[in-house]
Amino acid sequence: VFPTDQNCLLTISPHLDDAVFSCGDVLAAHPGSVVVTVFAGIPSSPPALTDWDAACGFLDSRAAVPIRRREDHGALQILQARAVWLDYPDNQYGGTPDISDLLQPLMSLVLEWHPQRLLVPLGLFHSDHLLASDTLLEVFRRSADARLSCHAYEEVPYRRLKGAVQARLADLFQAGFELTPAAPNMPVSTLKHAAIEQYRSQLRGLTSHGRPGYQDAYLPERYWEVRIRNGTA
Ligand SMILES: [Zn+2]
Repeated sequence: VFPTDQNCLLTISPHLDDAVFSCGDVLAAHPGSVVVTVFAGIPSSPPALTDWDAACGFLDSRAAVPIRRREDHGALQILQARAVWLDYPDNQYGGTPDISDLLQPLMSLVLEWHPQRLLVPLGLFHSDHLLASDTLLEVFRRSADARLSCHAYEEVPYRRLKGAVQARLADLFQAGFELTPAAPNMPVSTLKHAAIEQYRSQLRGLTSHGRPGYQDAYLPERYWEVRIRNGTA
């Protein structure tokens, strides 16, 4: 487990479920931490029904986000974490912001919560994951807070895609970040199991035809400590 004071862990979740699936045990070990979900916005005019929402059992995409927020609330209650939902739309609804739109608001949010440690997605596969990861790593790089540290978590289930972690680590090295394994290697806890089960719609989507299932969420969590490489901007 990461040595931090209470209330000092801030975890960034691209979507409503990623932090719990990928970091539920670390969250359980740090009650009182904050989970910020970036793409949790209720879209003003979503498509009637996206493929993903249909796979999750929704009949209308306009109903999906409020239900997913309730699932997230239930899961984070179990882990005694606090939910912060930002209003940016999930990529499946269009209207995705640029990193330049996200950078200032997320820098302000980190300043406001003043965490000791950031947990950010490594940025695998999904464009929203890459965007959240790139933004938060830039927030970390620009932070003037010398006591702030940053870990990247490997996202369930994308970390299982062949070469995905390797390719991202290589890109981050080029971008001036140095990543070192920091695996807490805890067994998956009963609290995490209970929290995962709150995301009923997403579990249904993940087990629909041709999708990867969610067994990966029950395998140990994996983290990388992030440092800024010397000599890079
Ligand atoms: Zn996601």
